[in-house]
Amino acid sequence: MTQVVIEPGSVLGVLGGGQLGTLFTRAAATHGYRVAVWDPDADAPAHRLATHSFTAPFTHQETMSRFASVVSAVTYEWENVPAQLCEQLETRRPVRPSGAVLRSIQNRLVQKSYLAGHGFPVPRFAPVADLNELSDVIRAVGCPAVCKTAMAGYDGKGQWKIDEPSAISRILPSVHASAIPGMQWIVEAYVPFEQELSILVARGEGGEVIVYPLVENEHEQGILRTTTVPASVPTGVLARAETLARAVIERMQGVGLFCLELFLLPDNILLINEVAPRPHNSGHYTLDACNLSQFEQQVRAVCGLAPQQVQLLSPAAMVNLIGRDIETIKQDSECQRLLELPEAFLHDYGKCEIRPRRKMGHVTFLAEHREAARKRAERLHRRLLQASPS
Ligand code: AMP
Repeated sequence: MTQVVIEPGSVLGVLGGGQLGTLFTRAAATHGYRVAVWDPDADAPAHRLATHSFTAPFTHQETMSRFASVVSAVTYEWENVPAQLCEQLETRRPVRPSGAVLRSIQNRLVQKSYLAGHGFPVPRFAPVADLNELSDVIRAVGCPAVCKTAMAGYDGKGQWKIDEPSAISRILPSVHASAIPGMQWIVEAYVPFEQELSILVARGEGGEVIVYPLVENEHEQGILRTTTVPASVPTGVLARAETLARAVIERMQGVGLFCLELFLLPDNILLINEVAPRPHNSGHYTLDACNLSQFEQQVRAVCGLAPQQVQLLSPAAMVNLIGRDIETIKQDSECQRLLELPEAFLHDYGKCEIRPRRKMGHVTFLAEHREAARKRAERLHRRLLQASPS
């Protein structure tokens, strides 16, 4: 098969201009590409870096047509862009990952059913189409459980943990409030994980696959707070995580950069929590600690280039800056001391408005050993919590 490679100087299109779209745009520019950003939010930070900006709603047909005529290929920054839009664009330009792959991922129920149907390990789950059935479904799955909206939830939004059946009535009003026409929910067994891990995997048009190092994640109120790389796990777990990542992406015939979020259970059992068809917050360490960042790898995939092998140049630990942390980090003297370390890298996403629970930036610490990087990240994390407890 002859692969068409999109050359530097061309315009790449990205749907979504938040932090991931911004970092994609920067990476594309570094490699000589121009970028058309389509985000209905005119304040989305990627618009400031874009050579072409589109701010109409994603349903606007005329904009779809103009966008398609400007770009040579399209990608997206997250899975909640309309799959239908990707499918329409696909009739005119390559979209990577494809609309079909996006469809099999963006709905949690479809994704989990797809993974389970192909023999991949996922937590026990069941669908909920009618909220009158919610109690029965939770009882059937067993407590503790977690109920999630099938579409559009992220960073713990649209999720309700149920520790025991008596708690069902407490969460019901809030689940009902999330209901919009056609909404479905998924109930999953809440798994007693020992660690949360994730792994980036890239696949090219020609089927070449590369994986990034396995990383270890810690969440706070459903939001990623810290990532440490490399993960401290037995070598068998590492090998199985890499095999899983390759197998999932190959089974989906996905082209692009993906991330698998994993739970590590006692007895070294690995379950897939989620597959994301895009760069991931837990992969931000690649900007400072790898020869090729996840965003550069995404650019390669969009352009029809085979993925490039990656190397971890240094152990690293990343801390997310959430809400007011972005102010604290610039004002607090202890934060400043940590940032003055030569191996500390601050990334500010340039978002106009600070909101609670909003990811505003991150800091990556490099060190000779992962524990040293992790300690620095922990110091910063502690200080941020003291200065602006959420
Ligand atoms: P998600 O948006 O599905 O990735 O969930 C956000 C976070 O909630 C995860 O990173 C976990 O910390 C937690 N979580 C989600 N689903 C489960 C589950 N089935 N069992 C245990 N923890 C979960």
